[in-house]
Amino acid sequence: MTDAARSTLADVAAYLDDLLRTSEVPDYRGAMNGIQVEHVGPVMRCAVAVDASTRTIQGAIEQRANLLIVHHGLFWAGAQPIRGHVYERVRRLLTHDIAVYASHLPLDLHPVVGNNALLARELGLAPASGFGRFESIEVGVKGSCDPATAVLAERCEEFSRREGGRLVAVGVIPERRTTRWAICTGAGASSDALREAKAAQVDTLIVGEGPHHTAIEAEELGIAVLYMGHYASETLGVRALGAEIERAFGIPWSFIAAPTGL
Ligand SMILES: [Zn+2]
Repeated sequence: MTDAARSTLADVAAYLDDLLRTSEVPDYRGAMNGIQVEHVGPVMRCAVAVDASTRTIQGAIEQRANLLIVHHGLFWAGAQPIRGHVYERVRRLLTHDIAVYASHLPLDLHPVVGNNALLARELGLAPASGFGRFESIEVGVKGSCDPATAVLAERCEEFSRREGGRLVAVGVIPERRTTRWAICTGAGASSDALREAKAAQVDTLIVGEGPHHTAIEAEELGIAVLYMGHYASETLGVRALGAEIERAFGIPWSFIAAPTGL
């Protein structure tokens, strides 16, 4: 453990980039993984949150944190003028000397601190292999088990509620049992994911969210889908990063809850 008072943003970011293999993992254009905003520092306290938003930046200010670690960074919407709510985010960050570090797919797929691995563990499921192909990587996880699908749905419902979400379950009928499951957090339901699930004989797909047509396709393919809410499904990874930074650098952290209801 190093002295928290002397840990710089560069130290913490280098540690996270190495842990998460930031430079090796492909991602969407707007993800911009790594340091998104610098500060004068050093890092005194971390706030971790699912999204970089005015609410979570305000939460960081209230916690007196000067590093905000998020899963969804500031640049999803692409290039835009720094005006209105975008200006407000930047103004608060710079006024309070708060740095931002983002990790999207590198955090989703990490076998220990990743959203998918941790959600599986939370639901009592043991991943056996990857699921959810994106370019050269698999974002999610899959495995085998034998609970009644309704029991698994209850576990998802309980977790989702705790994180401010709401479960939407498709294809969960009383006699149904889950033998092969797959998890893909966030916007994990898609036609491609359902095709991949069918090919892998997955009978239950657990996701954050997905478009309306995925519920119809799932029903026709005979796959149960548990939509836990995008936000709720991705609260575990950033918490694990907070704990990891405390362990490595002795820097205290707190989770800023800001559920969107979706
Ligand atoms: Zn997401």
